[in-house]
Amino acid sequence: MAGGAKKQSRQWVATAEGAHLRGRRVRDTKPEVTLRKAVHRLGLRFRLQRRVTPQCTADLVLPRHRIAIFVDGCFWHGCPDHAPREFRGPNAARWQEKINTNRKRDHRNTEQVTAAGWSVVRIWECEIRRDAEGAAERVAKLVSSDHAE
Ligand SMILES: [Zn+2]
Repeated sequence: MAGGAKKQSRQWVATAEGAHLRGRRVRDTKPEVTLRKAVHRLGLRFRLQRRVTPQCTADLVLPRHRIAIFVDGCFWHGCPDHAPREFRGPNAARWQEKINTNRKRDHRNTEQVTAAGWSVVRIWECEIRRDAEGAAERVAKLVSSDHAE
């Protein structure tokens, strides 16, 4: 298939690393796009980048079901399988601190968003890489349990 030919972009691309260092969530990452497609294939409709509490924006939101989905990058959000166990070099402590701060923020956001009446789904980027359909199924299950009530 020639349709999928890769285009080389010469534009400067903001890196995930840079955005994280500025304390932002990164949008439209590859795992996020993959997840969207998988969720969409299951016939679920969602919105992107919706604010679910005053402090917190979810990556995907299913407003009717009050489901908020967060895609967490393995490195910056401290995935148990893929975050580095130790850092080296002069900035090691700062890297570690940055990841610890992100993890605490994730945890706090989950609590706040849950308290606001949302069902929270956090999905690691590696989970999407491994099994995007399975990750989407987690969302679909929540939707169907919502219907059951
Ligand atoms: Zn991971």
